[in-house]
Amino acid sequence: MAAAIRQGRRKRRAECETGGLLFGKRDDALRVIWVDDVIGPPPDSVCSPEKFVCGIKGTQEATKKRKEQSRGSMEFVGMWHTHPQDVPLPSTTDLSGMAQILASGEAPPLRSLLVIVGWEHDGILLGTSVFNRGLFRGGNGIVGVAINHFPGLKT
Ligand SMILES: [Zn+2]
Repeated sequence: MAAAIRQGRRKRRAECETGGLLFGKRDDALRVIWVDDVIGPPPDSVCSPEKFVCGIKGTQEATKKRKEQSRGSMEFVGMWHTHPQDVPLPSTTDLSGMAQILASGEAPPLRSLLVIVGWEHDGILLGTSVFNRGLFRGGNGIVGVAINHFPGLKT
């Protein structure tokens, strides 16, 4: 994640959001999502100071590759992106993006993870939200949100 953020700063203005996909394992019975691998923005992503719209180019191949390498245990578990100028909490754009993920594909996941990276003067803030497909009707779908502060950690 840090490498993708640094690469984004070299390519674009520092205030532009960037992001990508999270891969790992999801255990709905234990209500745990493990993140084992991360990729940066697909080439057709939109990175601006206002928003990050994750592209889809190469994402199916990236997912397939990880699934094969892990003999089926690693899968797509969610998304990550940065909020360089805002708190690391989901925006309305983020909520609709997660609703879309939980409704798309042949077998949409029951839960999906959204990790948002933000900054404090002395370190980074990680905002982690778990979304539940069933709760999007009439609500925002969030079942858990946590913001963790990591003083001294830089990207
Ligand atoms: Zn966002």
